Amino acid sequence: MTDVKQIFNSIQGKVPKKDEELIIKAYEFSKKAHEGQKRMSGEPYFIHVFETAKLIAKLGMDAKTIAAGLLHDVLEDTLIKESEMEKEFGKDIVFLVRGVTKLGTLKYRGHERHVESLRKFFVAIANDLRVVIIKFADRMHNLSTLQHVREDKRKRIAIESIEVYAPLANRLGMGKLKGEIEDAAFPYAYPEEYAQVEELIKGKKELYEKYLTEVRNDLEKELKKNKIKYVEIDYRMKHKYSLYKKLVQHDMDIDKIYDIVALRVVVETVEDCYRVLGLVHSIWKPLPGRIKDYIAVPKPNGYRSIHTTIFTGSGGIAEIQIRTREMHAEAAYGIAAHFAYKEQGDKKAQDDKSKFKWIKDLKDLKHIPEDPSKFIENLKMDVFNDRIFVFTPEGDVVDLPEGSSPIDFAYTIHSDIGNHIASAKVSGKMTPISTKLHNGDIVEIVTKKDAHPSNKWLEYTKTTLAKKHIRIYGEKHSLLSILKSFGQK
Ligand code: MN
Repeated sequence: MTDVKQIFNSIQGKVPKKDEELIIKAYEFSKKAHEGQKRMSGEPYFIHVFETAKLIAKLGMDAKTIAAGLLHDVLEDTLIKESEMEKEFGKDIVFLVRGVTKLGTLKYRGHERHVESLRKFFVAIANDLRVVIIKFADRMHNLSTLQHVREDKRKRIAIESIEVYAPLANRLGMGKLKGEIEDAAFPYAYPEEYAQVEELIKGKKELYEKYLTEVRNDLEKELKKNKIKYVEIDYRMKHKYSLYKKLVQHDMDIDKIYDIVALRVVVETVEDCYRVLGLVHSIWKPLPGRIKDYIAVPKPNGYRSIHTTIFTGSGGIAEIQIRTREMHAEAAYGIAAHFAYKEQGDKKAQDDKSKFKWIKDLKDLKHIPEDPSKFIENLKMDVFNDRIFVFTPEGDVVDLPEGSSPIDFAYTIHSDIGNHIASAKVSGKMTPISTKLHNGDIVEIVTKKDAHPSNKWLEYTKTTLAKKHIRIYGEKHSLLSILKSFGQK
């Protein structure tokens, strides 16, 4: 059931001997380390890391990342020491495994306003795109076995997946993975809404499939007649969670949603994409305002494709998506597809620079190395290097500039707390309120009625918010003492 060959089969193309050896070694090592451990489902624990590694291989990641996937729970859940793993597998793989282990501290506790901070925290802690991708694969497998998990924990994991993981996958252009994460989590996160969507699409599916089969047959004939080569034509159902979100925008009226199913035409070249579009519009009447050219103007996450919606002629409406083979792979795997394509010469390297410009913007990278394989390896996600992420005792994440103190923290929570801060506990220890906080600290503020800000605090604060409140207090206070001294005269 857990044959290492399944991993090799998930890798596209021929696996070099060196990579094969590394993966087999990690496989044996992890299997032995997890020996005797069981999952909640009663299955051997190793199945989890094995399935995670398989998914990482499918996403087109390199052998080191696959090996790290096999080893990702070894440091946390077995007696194996970091030094031992480093001796066997080297610093790079230990770095990846440690990153995944650190991400284990991430927990969503149901506070909407902290979601964005949680996402940033995730990226900052992961520190490397490969760690993010291992964690996505880990989460995907955990979601597929969620029925065995205790109910409260199940719901937390499901909502966290939708609120934190899926939007990150989307930002990395991994549309397929985003949809899969959401759909695996949806029934556990929002069971009633899920049932509602199921009810609405019941019966509709066959109708839409009928329309699409008609369109597909006609289109195939026309493509052949016009000698346009196509790689494949298939259709996809809209993912249920994104359908749900769209339904909410349209008063739950399913007839207002035109892309529940879509026909996908994959061709060889960009020129052919436009030829197919012309052909489609010459056969069917397009719906005005629904032609979207994401090839000329890609979505911010890099998505490229042409979309158009047509009247099928038999009373139906259908969306048609036209794209090249490469765009098709990228729409599924986003930045991970880059690994699969990275060995294709210089032209490609140029394209990648512009395509991943948004990441460069996001990261404000100083320079990108000429060699594209180096580019991806060096793609440390230190976007938030100048930020730290600390927790309230309740587990909410607070996002602060580097060098912040408990005073900044207190003012971020509430100005009253800031104005009356007396002392602070950082990760359980009493600490001066001027102490510099670090990533992952749990900060508890003790307030006193008679405690007040002093101008000295300005030296220990980084946030403009805290400085503003300290100054306001100072001004008020000096004004009051002037008034008082007048009163005394
Ligand atoms: Mn795991």
